[in-house]
Amino acid sequence: MSVQAEAQEATSAGVEHELTALDRCDSCGAQAYIRATLTSGGQLLFCGHHGRENKDKLIALGATWHDESARLVASRD
Ligand SMILES: [Zn+2]
Repeated sequence: MSVQAEAQEATSAGVEHELTALDRCDSCGAQAYIRATLTSGGQLLFCGHHGRENKDKLIALGATWHDESARLVASRD
């Protein structure tokens, strides 16, 4: 697998890949695929699992949801 400088390689769903392997879930430390930006400006990072767990709650609070978890599905067949 070659990661080519994280180019603008908009894949399937056209989701922008802004999160990297260095971004970690705030809950468990796994690689983050989801970023929630709070109305306060703060950001939370989640793995797919914790993203799903917290989504409804944070959306209700007005957070902006950035979800790259489709990459998980893609890379796992
Ligand atoms: Zn997690």
